[in-house]
Amino acid sequence: MLSTMQDVPLTVTRILTHGMTIHGKSQVTTWTGEPEPHRRSFAEIGRRASQLAHALRDELGVDGDQRVATLMWNNSEHVEAYLAIPSMGAVLHTLNLRLPAEQLVWIVNHADDKVVLVNGSLLPLLAPLLHRLPSVEHVVVSGPGDRSALDGVAPRVHEYEELIAGRPVSYAWPELDERQAAAMCYTSGTTGDPKGVVYSHRSIYLHSMQVNMAESMGLTDKDTTLVVVPQFHVNAWGLPHATFMTGVNMLMPDRFLQPAPLADMIEKERPTHAAAVPTIWQGLLAEVTAKPRDLSSMASVTIGGAACPPSLMEAYDKLGVRLCHAWGMTETSPLGTMSNPPAGLTEEQEWPYRITQGRFPAGVEARLTGPGGESLPWDGESAGELEVRGNWIAGAYYGGADGEDLRPEDKFSEDGWLKTGDVGVISADGYLTLTDRAKDVIKSGGEWISSVGLENAIMAHPDVAEAAVVAVPDEKWGERPLATVVLKEGATADYAALRTFLAQSVAKWQLPERWTIVPAVPKTSVGKFDKKVIRRQYADGELDVTQL
Ligand code: ADP
Repeated sequence: MLSTMQDVPLTVTRILTHGMTIHGKSQVTTWTGEPEPHRRSFAEIGRRASQLAHALRDELGVDGDQRVATLMWNNSEHVEAYLAIPSMGAVLHTLNLRLPAEQLVWIVNHADDKVVLVNGSLLPLLAPLLHRLPSVEHVVVSGPGDRSALDGVAPRVHEYEELIAGRPVSYAWPELDERQAAAMCYTSGTTGDPKGVVYSHRSIYLHSMQVNMAESMGLTDKDTTLVVVPQFHVNAWGLPHATFMTGVNMLMPDRFLQPAPLADMIEKERPTHAAAVPTIWQGLLAEVTAKPRDLSSMASVTIGGAACPPSLMEAYDKLGVRLCHAWGMTETSPLGTMSNPPAGLTEEQEWPYRITQGRFPAGVEARLTGPGGESLPWDGESAGELEVRGNWIAGAYYGGADGEDLRPEDKFSEDGWLKTGDVGVISADGYLTLTDRAKDVIKSGGEWISSVGLENAIMAHPDVAEAAVVAVPDEKWGERPLATVVLKEGATADYAALRTFLAQSVAKWQLPERWTIVPAVPKTSVGKFDKKVIRRQYADGELDVTQL
């Protein structure tokens, strides 16, 4: 028997029209570096999204599912693009502005982008590449920045404000199939070539609802979220869509992502929530330790993208800021888990739950698979590769060239689950603890050592600012850990002292013999530890390693 329910498609268009009317007064505030930030209401953003859609269709000829790329910081124009492009039936392609030029060229060509919306300050990055981007017919420039880089090199160039000015503030949005492509994003390639993930209207809609659940970020129109996670990093973890559903105000840092302006904007604009990767919170902590600011408005923070060291959580607890750990990937939209503890526990009992990656929402099913393909129990002990499936999980990659494998065996199981490449355990009550990426785990004499476990233990030392651990070849054991450590300013800890400290919490056979102090841990384009680079530096003899 079929249901008697209406079948209304789940679309980004609905998110746009709902946000701009029901939550028309909510605001996107963009930091400008001037005494006053820029403010724009959801209603105005909705009207401007219509104007942008008219401009793209009538002036630039964007039709059907053509790709419109953005090379932009987090700001209100970028939110307009987020809503307008999918709603008109085209596909938003967010470009990661920190990728090496070669990868950007590869990605734009692979996605066959027709238009690029770019912030003026990023023209020095885009302009020299344009002659290698044959599909790009139009460049639309928004915000401050010298335009001269485009002289003589560009296809047709438009100023964003001039392009949309005077156009109708409403648009006859087409009826879309909810399974149609709405947006795409390439993986940041931490462990391999970038791969294109294409989100549907339906997956974005359902993911937004999950982000908004109290079980996840649980924000309302009384909140303001500081969206530090870039809009090019898995749709800023879904926040621009989720906020338009519930009227949550957004505070956008634009290009001011350094610790000092972030601390200033938190003190001045008093966001109640924020989202970013651990390295941002490490940097902000050092900043406010040196020069205190009032962070007290920020009751909760979503932290993910890489493992959050428990010591960082403790440090923010002392500032009255509660970090909530989340796990996800480009392929998972990204919300996969969040570490809200179960009900009825004391603060002390909550702690072991808070330091896990969190539990799965109903939209994400999980299983652990052992090395021989066997299914492992959820007992908090059996470690295996995490596999997931669900309403906002990728089932394949985007195909450009002929012959490309869109469902590679190492990424998708035969029965269609996503193989995450993450290794961990799941407790009986469904909390995930990741011990490593499959490619980062240290295989020492037939035993596995978690690089993340060692990093967390080293970072708990008061003299340590950051620490990354990688596997290096070892004649006797196959692989052993190499600890690369960044000391806090003025700190004096030596290797023997660090090793003794580590011995308090780590089994003896896991203690690293190889140590090096470095000025900074190399980072990927989205601010994660770049272990590929550390392994290469070690192999090339670039690191000054002490063996204990
Ligand atoms: P890339 O794989 O190129 O780094 P993603 O941003 O998609 O790009 O990264 C997803 C990966 O980031 C996950 O597979 C996982 O290894 C890591 N990750 C994300 N969140 C966490 C977390 N909370 N703890 C540990 N690792 C995490």
